[in-house]
Amino acid sequence: MDRLYAPWRTTYITKNDKKNNKCIFCNIALSNISDDEKLGVLYRDKDFFIVMNKYPYSPGHFMIIPNKHEQNLEDLDSELFAKISLYAQKGVKMLKEVLNAQGVNVGLNLHKAAGAGIEEHIHMHLIPRWVGDTNFITTIANTRIYGTDHDKLYKKLKNASENYFR
Ligand SMILES: [Zn+2]
Repeated sequence: MDRLYAPWRTTYITKNDKKNNKCIFCNIALSNISDDEKLGVLYRDKDFFIVMNKYPYSPGHFMIIPNKHEQNLEDLDSELFAKISLYAQKGVKMLKEVLNAQGVNVGLNLHKAAGAGIEEHIHMHLIPRWVGDTNFITTIANTRIYGTDHDKLYKKLKNASENYFR
């Protein structure tokens, strides 16, 4: 895995270490609103939050994550899951209208066998797709280029999110 340019990565790891290696999603849930830009948080509800993926499969990839540290989907509060699903619908609309996504992958990777990167805390992925983007995504996934583009995309989606996530 090559790393070309990932200035946020150091901050991310340092921050995590400082908090005694607690779950990184719990750390975001507990962090201050003043850290939202640094962490890529797009929206906060009292029970969940929406955050850009620092290791995106494609530009604009974000996740909807319950505040509660929960590993098993079957144990997640059903009303909360319904609310997260509602926000997935809003998120798809935003990706189509703001980033002109032609398709969106929406999904949960439950546990290691299903490909979960952070398996101890449920997170729903929303990954915008464009026709013919496969090669591009492979490039992004294998090199983790993102710095400036990440900041621009964050600002664009953060501004838009006020219209979509409500
Ligand atoms: Zn957690």
